[in-house]
Amino acid sequence: MPSKTIDRDGLEPIERASRDEISALQLDRLKWSLRHTYDNVEPYRRKCEEKGVHPDDLKTLSDLSLFPFMTKYDLRDHYPFGLFAVPRDKLARLHASSGTTGKPVVVGYTSHDIDVWAGLVARSLRAAGARPGDMVHNAYGYGMFTGGLGAHYGIERAGCIAVPMSGGQTEKQVQQILDFRPDIIMVTPSYSLVIADEFQRLGICPSDISLKVGVFGAEPWGEGMRAEIERSLGIDAIDIYGLTEVMGPGVASECIETKDGPVIWEDHFYPEIIDPDTGEVLPDGQDGELVFTSLTKEAFPVIRYRTRDLTRLLPPSARSFRRIGKITGRSDDMLIIRGVNVFPAQIEEQILADKHLSGHYQLVVGREGHMDTLEVRCELLPDCAATMTPAEMASVSKAVQRHIKTMVGVSTTVTVLEPGGIPRTVVGKAKRVIDQRPRAV
Ligand code: ADP
Repeated sequence: MPSKTIDRDGLEPIERASRDEISALQLDRLKWSLRHTYDNVEPYRRKCEEKGVHPDDLKTLSDLSLFPFMTKYDLRDHYPFGLFAVPRDKLARLHASSGTTGKPVVVGYTSHDIDVWAGLVARSLRAAGARPGDMVHNAYGYGMFTGGLGAHYGIERAGCIAVPMSGGQTEKQVQQILDFRPDIIMVTPSYSLVIADEFQRLGICPSDISLKVGVFGAEPWGEGMRAEIERSLGIDAIDIYGLTEVMGPGVASECIETKDGPVIWEDHFYPEIIDPDTGEVLPDGQDGELVFTSLTKEAFPVIRYRTRDLTRLLPPSARSFRRIGKITGRSDDMLIIRGVNVFPAQIEEQILADKHLSGHYQLVVGREGHMDTLEVRCELLPDCAATMTPAEMASVSKAVQRHIKTMVGVSTTVTVLEPGGIPRTVVGKAKRVIDQRPRAV
């Protein structure tokens, strides 16, 4: 376990408030947000009218379940600006999703929205242990993706020093970390392993790296990946969650003292978990699809936005707000292999349970005749590769294959490659799945 943690700074009063205070604030803000959306976003007003509901029907927080959902299809149907709730002259910035799952969605922010966002990323950084004066190496991509600029404004708001490195140019990233000696890194978990490999190539051991904390998000990563990142960089790895439609990074973020799932900043976002098939609201603790309603957003409010992220709501721990469990996957990331539902995160867990393998992996889905096939490509850790015989590699492959079959329920071919065998994603999100099945016509 890493020992180079940073002392925690002061909290905002709302982070320690009672649940009653939080609920009262949420109800007030929810009424405003519903009214604001209804009055200014015509397609949502029409949905409400079709369902026969009106913002006046919301008397308690649970009445929210009466209202219609918003989905990614609504955003696409009204591309690019049809769901904006303010006129053009009130907008300060636009962003778009990285388009992991299709056509990009475009979102807008007023200067107040940007201000709230910066405050929430700053809060997230404080939860990760950052204090004023810390230097933060920001390797999230700058541009239309919310990661780079979203993190950047928060770093500055937290009183930290922003190093706006963006993604890519791994050798330069590493050289700069060596020269500037930042305290914190913000980056995707998959790219952090590419950076760690470069340190290793240079013969620099984790305890000599200046970084103490990493704040990782934008893609799913499990506890095995956390252990791998912490070991290879000698840091505490903290989970930050967010999505473009709801704001960007910093909708929820983990506390360094507990590392028990991202705390939802519930004073700005109201979460629900629903059954993805029926839309019914599920009790806290049950797995389902995460749904968010923005409570304070002006330019692009969302009401009951279906994230497609699968997780559960957990009770408060280090803060008064509820948390989310690890995102097990997106409903649209799910692979169906010969009838078995498989999420890449489940395979990742089995790969990282093997001490010979690194966190670089790829899943190749193919078809033989009428049967789907799944090849799991993974990589040896450099230390193991140096000493392993082909027979030992074959036994690693067999063991992982067996574990995946037992734990996930799907038959695979596991190919164990030498270090560097998996292509690296140096900008944006890792491409974990290559689907080579012929497209249905
Ligand atoms: P896109 O939808 O094109 O990927 P975004 O950049 O807005 O665009 O991605 C948001 C999505 O990224 C989330 O809905 C979620 O699936 C994933 N994500 C973001 N942060 C995390 C995290 N900490 N853990 C797991 N998944 C995450």
